[in-house]
Amino acid sequence: MKSVSKEEYVNLRKRGNDYMKLAIHDENLQNMLADSWDNLKNFLNQPTKNIRDWQLKRISYLVDYAYENIPLYHEKYSKVGYKKGSIKTWDDFYKLPYLYKEELIEGFPDKIVKNVDDFILSTRSSGSSGKFVTIAVSLEAIYIDTLQTIRQFYMQSGGKYCADDTILFIYTCPWWVSNIGGKYVQDFLPTTTKVGQVIKHIKKLRPKYISTYPTYLEKIASTGIKLSDYGVELVIIHSEQSNEKQRRMLKEALGVEVLDEYSSEELTRIALECPKHHYHLEEDACFIEIIDEDGNKLEDGNIGTVVGTNLLNTATPIIRYVQGDLAKIMKDEKCECGNHGRIIEGVKGRRMDSVITDSGERIPASCFMDIAYNWFLVYDIPVHGLKYQFMQKEIGELELYLIEGEYSLNLDEIKETLYTLVPRSTKIDVYKVDKLPYDSGTKYRPVISLIGGKK
Ligand SMILES: [Zn+2]
Repeated sequence: MKSVSKEEYVNLRKRGNDYMKLAIHDENLQNMLADSWDNLKNFLNQPTKNIRDWQLKRISYLVDYAYENIPLYHEKYSKVGYKKGSIKTWDDFYKLPYLYKEELIEGFPDKIVKNVDDFILSTRSSGSSGKFVTIAVSLEAIYIDTLQTIRQFYMQSGGKYCADDTILFIYTCPWWVSNIGGKYVQDFLPTTTKVGQVIKHIKKLRPKYISTYPTYLEKIASTGIKLSDYGVELVIIHSEQSNEKQRRMLKEALGVEVLDEYSSEELTRIALECPKHHYHLEEDACFIEIIDEDGNKLEDGNIGTVVGTNLLNTATPIIRYVQGDLAKIMKDEKCECGNHGRIIEGVKGRRMDSVITDSGERIPASCFMDIAYNWFLVYDIPVHGLKYQFMQKEIGELELYLIEGEYSLNLDEIKETLYTLVPRSTKIDVYKVDKLPYDSGTKYRPVISLIGGKK
């Protein structure tokens, strides 16, 4: 089996970023946007049958592609007697076995791509299990995802978002592309930025849109700022579970609408909350199914585990992937916002707690989730297969539990990174373990506070 050395692994992001800086990408994106915007914008306004037909055609192509080019799928699908061109109906598709994260982790690098060089464009996700997986992303997927970002803000803003508007992403790392021909600018700050800095930045640059984590937005709200005073019109939150009540309270506190995005690195955008507060599935980004504990497909209206097929990415195809979150799909409905297609409800993803420092400062869970990503992105620590959990039992103390992945870990090095978030006075213990203290399948939580009554 071909392997990726520790050094090669930590250089992936840099090589990918350099590649994406080439001027040709901007040119391609401008052309794609001009050619496809009308179709893209209206995709969910079509009759459901058209959406479903398009999906089946795309899935049929993807499955054949995966079977013929990706060793993991070739092996997996051969076992069930798959033959090229077999997917003609939805029932044909539903016969395919599910894909689990462990398979992607074990298949890394050479079994989950056609060519190991494909990892030059790659992404890492710790997702709802907290275990890092590395997948390759195709250039075309990055392009379409970039265009779907434009559509996302257009849809969630009720058609107001336009080319001259800026979106501020307070997030883990910047997107591959920061603008298209100087328009649709994506500004970026890491969540490890102190909230005071972020507020200064917002006051100065007045972005119309902000995209961040709910726990980080709560931190912004706790400063008493009214974002509406500084030109912000809409905030999109994602990656952590939030509920309607929390979003309503944030909306009141900040003076701007707060809408949710349900997404994952493996599946991209799964569903977006429209201005009428329905979660519309992004039917041209991924195809979502709901299954029960025994793996049986559930009828609409039943809560179960989210399984998804990424419709964009061919570099590491993600087909019938068990995402792990819980949700239910409601019947097709025409929403007042203009969207057709399926609506998803009751999404239960990652629940997270904040950490409290000895001076009483509350640090959002998202910062800890991001520091885990930064082990790779900033500190050159290879994370593939690594699993983590933060736990706070006492104020001023913090524990971190790690299950080693593909590469060996230096615990002192990891411990040191945590002091970029918590004060030096914090007692930090880092443990290498075989099993996380709190982990039962979908109930995994990356950051747990056991400080009673203070949450
Ligand atoms: Zn709607």
